[in-house]
Amino acid sequence: MTDARRAIPSVDVLLASGEFVELLDARPRSLVIAALRRALEGLRAELAEGRRTAVPERAEIAEATRRELAAMETPSLRRVINATGVPLHTNLGRAPLPAAARAALETVSGGYSSLEYDIEHGARGSRHDHCSALLSELTGAEAALVVNNNAAAVVLALNELAEGLEVIVSRGELVEIGETFRVPEIIAKSGARIVEVGATNRTHPGDYEKAIGPDTGALLKVHRSNFQQAGFVSDVEIDEVAAIARRHELPVVHDLGSGMLPDAERAFGFPWEPNVRASLDAGADVVTFSGDKLLGGPQAGVILGRADLVGRLRRNPLLRALRVGKLTIAALEATLRLWRDLDVARAQVPALAMIGADPAALRERAERIARTLRERCREAEIEVAADVAEVGGGSYPGLELETWVLRIGVSGRSERELEVACRRSTPPVIGRLRGDALCLDPRTVLPDEEAEFIDSTTKALTGDG
Ligand SMILES: *Cc1c(COP(=O)(O)O)cnc(C)c1O
Repeated sequence: MTDARRAIPSVDVLLASGEFVELLDARPRSLVIAALRRALEGLRAELAEGRRTAVPERAEIAEATRRELAAMETPSLRRVINATGVPLHTNLGRAPLPAAARAALETVSGGYSSLEYDIEHGARGSRHDHCSALLSELTGAEAALVVNNNAAAVVLALNELAEGLEVIVSRGELVEIGETFRVPEIIAKSGARIVEVGATNRTHPGDYEKAIGPDTGALLKVHRSNFQQAGFVSDVEIDEVAAIARRHELPVVHDLGSGMLPDAERAFGFPWEPNVRASLDAGADVVTFSGDKLLGGPQAGVILGRADLVGRLRRNPLLRALRVGKLTIAALEATLRLWRDLDVARAQVPALAMIGADPAALRERAERIARTLRERCREAEIEVAADVAEVGGGSYPGLELETWVLRIGVSGRSERELEVACRRSTPPVIGRLRGDALCLDPRTVLPDEEAEFIDSTTKALTGDG
C-alpha cells in the first residue's frame, strides 16, 4: 500500500505531463496546484484505506483534479430554487428582492453614487438620510434610521437608551429567534441589565410598575414572532406599557420582528401580525423591525420613533459598526417606494405576492407544472396534493397557508434519494420530505424561474444530473 502511494508521480512531474496541459490553459498555475494537491490527498487516502489498490493513472489524477477545480470554481453563495413553499425561508435568504430593488442595485453598484454626498449643495451628505423621509411618510414616524439588521437595531437602541441601566421586559417575551438572537443575550451585549417581570404565561401592568426604579433605562416589548401562547395567558399591550413608561418618563422600545407597514388584514386578509404605525400610535418611542421579513426587501434593521431619540441613536458611535452599505440602501429605498401603493406592493414585492397567493391559482399552476414533468419523466409518479406552508422568517407563527404541492415518487428510488438529487441538480431545487414522498411547492418558485425549475427537477428525477 505504501509503495502504491509512493508510486504516484510528484506534483511537478504531473503538471508537466500532457494530461494537464488543458487544465493549465486558462487558469492560474497556483489554483491548479491547489486542486491537484487535494485530488492527490483524496487518492492517497483511498489507497491507505484500502478502497483502492492500483496506483492511479495520470488520466485519472487529471480527472480528479478537474473535479476539484470545478468545486473550487463554484461560488459558495449560490442561487437556489426554493420549492419549500416557505416564502421567508431564513436559510434560503428570506425575501427575494423586487425587480425595482434589483434594478436599483444594478444602477448603484457598478459606479459611484450620492451615498454621502448632497448633490443639491455640493456638500457632504449622510447615508442615513436616504430612506428616512420615505420611512416617515409610510409609517407616520417622526424619524427613521436603517442599520444592518433588526438585531443590530435592538442592540443600538438599548445601548443608547439603557447602557449601564436596567431594561424591563416580560418573561413571556424572552424569545429566541433562529438560535443567534436571544433577548436576554442581546440585552446583555447592549450593555444594559435585564430585569425580568411577570411569569412565562402572564404579565400584568403592575409587574412593570413594581420593577421601575432609579436604575431603569427603558422598557422593552418584544413581539413573539415565532411562537404562540394559548391557554391561561395574559399580556400587557404596547399602549399600556407605553402609558406606564410615560408616567415615569422612560422610553419604550418595541421590537416588532416582521413589522407590517400597512395593516396585515388589508394586505393578506389575515390579521394579527403587528403593524408598525399602530405601534407608534400606541406610544412606542422606538420601534424596530427587519427589512427582509414581511417588508420583502434586503436584510436591514429599520428603526422608527421619536426624533430626539433617533437623533441620539444617530450620534451613537456604535452606529458606525452597524451601518448599512450602499447596496442595502439602494435595494431598501426601491422596495419602500413600492409600499406607497398596497396594490403595487402586493403585485411587485415577491414575498408578499407569495404569501398572499390565491390557492386556486396555486393549484392550477401546480397541475400545469405536473403535466410537463410527467411528460418528461415517464418513470416518476407525480401527484398534485393539498398541503400547508408556513410564512417563515419568524412571521405569522401558527398560520398555515393553504397550498398545493407536487408529491413525487420514482420506483426504485427512495424519497431521500430524490430530495438529494434535486438539491444537487443545477440550479439546486430545495424541496421537503413529507411522509414517503418528496414534495415540491411551486408557491415559492418565482415566475421567471419556472422553466429552470422544471428542467432542473427533470434532470434530478431522470438521473440525468
Ligand atoms: C426576526 C426577529 C429579530 C431578528 O431580526 P434580524 O433582522 O434577523 O436581525 C429580532 N426580534 C424579533 C422579534 C424578530 O422576529
